[in-house]
Amino acid sequence: MSDRSGAVQDPLWSGAAGRLGLGEREAGWQRLRTERFDLVVIGGGVVGSGVALDAATRGLSVALVEARDLASGTSSRSSKLFHGGLRYLEQLEFGLVREALRERELMLTRLAPHLVKPVSFLYPLTHRVWERPYVAAGLKLYDSMGGARSVPGQKHLSRAAALRMAPALRRDALVGGVRYFDAIADDARHTMTVARTAAQYGAVVRTSTQVVGFLRDMDRVTGVRVRDCEDGSETDVRASAVLNCTGVWTDELQRLSGGRGRFRVRASKGVHLVVPRDRIISETGLILRTPTSVLFVIPWLDHWIVGTTDTDWNLDLAHPSATRADIDYVLDSVNSVLATPLVHDDIEGVYAGLRPLLAGEDAETSRLSREHAVARVAPGLVAIAGGKYTTYRVMAADAVDAAAPDLPGRVAPSITDKVPLLGADGYHALVNQVDTLGARHGLHPYRMRHLLDRYGSAVHQVLELGSSHPELFAPVPDAPAYLQAEIVYAVSHEGALHLEDVLTRRTRISIEYPHRGEACAAEVAALMATVLGWDEARQRREVDVYCARVAAERDSQTQPDDTAADARRTAAPEARPQLQPAS
Ligand SMILES: Cc1cc2nc3c(=O)[nH]c(=O)nc-3n(C[C@H](O)[C@H](O)[C@H](O)COP(=O)(O)OP(=O)(O)OC[C@H]3O[C@@H](n4cnc5c(N)ncnc54)[C@H](O)[C@@H]3O)c2cc1C
Repeated sequence: MSDRSGAVQDPLWSGAAGRLGLGEREAGWQRLRTERFDLVVIGGGVVGSGVALDAATRGLSVALVEARDLASGTSSRSSKLFHGGLRYLEQLEFGLVREALRERELMLTRLAPHLVKPVSFLYPLTHRVWERPYVAAGLKLYDSMGGARSVPGQKHLSRAAALRMAPALRRDALVGGVRYFDAIADDARHTMTVARTAAQYGAVVRTSTQVVGFLRDMDRVTGVRVRDCEDGSETDVRASAVLNCTGVWTDELQRLSGGRGRFRVRASKGVHLVVPRDRIISETGLILRTPTSVLFVIPWLDHWIVGTTDTDWNLDLAHPSATRADIDYVLDSVNSVLATPLVHDDIEGVYAGLRPLLAGEDAETSRLSREHAVARVAPGLVAIAGGKYTTYRVMAADAVDAAAPDLPGRVAPSITDKVPLLGADGYHALVNQVDTLGARHGLHPYRMRHLLDRYGSAVHQVLELGSSHPELFAPVPDAPAYLQAEIVYAVSHEGALHLEDVLTRRTRISIEYPHRGEACAAEVAALMATVLGWDEARQRREVDVYCARVAAERDSQTQPDDTAADARRTAAPEARPQLQPAS
């Protein structure tokens, strides 16, 4: 095996680094088999990862098991905004807005300044007289609730000024505009970083580890049975409490546990398109009203993310697919304001995600917020669902509090508002040193800054790989936004196990390049092989599975409706060979 990462050569568990490599994977399995945990968390989305971090930093022993990859569910497929939610203001839900704005501020300043960045939006006004004071009053409230603490407050613009800021808009599409700020993060990277931080504080974090059963002692849940989705081996994991943090899979896990849930979760599909930055000339993002909701045009490096839709989804939960109709809807919506309309050929990437929305619930549910619900569904079993990405930290604290009656001894209060995520400490100083750092490693300052905004102070670990193997500082062929060292690091430190993990979540090559990762799949698999010890046949299998996925997605995106699109998408094989299909 390779000397590039050290992960394979050093089988000792090195949780202190928050590393998720093969050595940690093996050690994690041993711990799952032999330890009794305070908590087992099911689901490595942002909520489960947040729960693991919350519990570990309260001094609890915790294991997080994820069936597929970190953030492979909804948490890599959102609009990527940390936002207060302007629509809640209209619904007079001031508490929710204040809470979300507090979280946004914490992320921007203390917990994840390397990952979470301010982003501005232009709201084009379309009605004269009444609309400007209406929007101004709402945004004034937004700003006063914390919306303008570390980012600028609202700014009012005439039509001419708004058009100077967003020349892509049609002149007759607005009578003026208002600009305000929210925040954005790469959701998959943020979730993975939360999980790594939990590992840093001692949590077992194990992907490709599916819960396939629950352990019970009479009516009490005492643990779970898990299956390694790579080799099919199984073991029991014992814990004082189990937390179901599986988003749209909540009901499925509830059924598996054999008990009745206190609330149900339904899935609503949202589709986003990715288009090149030069197709919409604007120095700000856009927020547009649609008949039922809003449409965002969000700046994303050299691209725009445009979305989203909102439709019920009752088909495959792991691979929701976008239809031709979804794509047409998003294009039509944004084209209603653009001087030069977007066409299908402009689309670089498409992704679909499922919102875990609360459905039926009974009177005993402790619904702590209009957005999320937490319930101790049985002794030893807590379920949490709903909510939004922005408030994951609050949800996590609520979930651990709800499990407290099942834990021996007193449980310390949540402290995650004081726990910076991995890479946050030292980030600002490194930004000031970006020129020196770049010069030392032979990297352009722009590239260096890009790396800092992905890894924070953990960038040193990535740079070390390149120092010992300078060829790794070369860009990935056909995906030059990423360095080859980042591919190796994704496997050695960030828990990627399959080509899909690297191309869709550790990097965003699958949505940022029109080839959707196919053009560089073989090279990326070869880089991964140096750490994972893949032979040529295994590399070929990874490439074949990934390309089949891309082909199935492309095919599904030409279909007229969900049923046809789902049939095309689910025809592609799973990357994880031993994943148990949903019953
Ligand atoms: C289109 C869209 C746009 C959105 N935009 C925003 C936004 O801009 N801002 C915002 O704040 N929120 C947004 N949201 C909401 C936000 O993304 C979700 O609320 C959040 O990501 C849900 O996280 P989760 O951890 O609950 O679920 P998930 O991320 O889905 O995680 C659940 C995990 O459980 C795992 N799992 C399932 N079964 C098992 C099993 N048997 N064993 C082990 N693991 C299992 C799954 O593999 C999955 O990884 C958006 C959502 C959508 C769909």
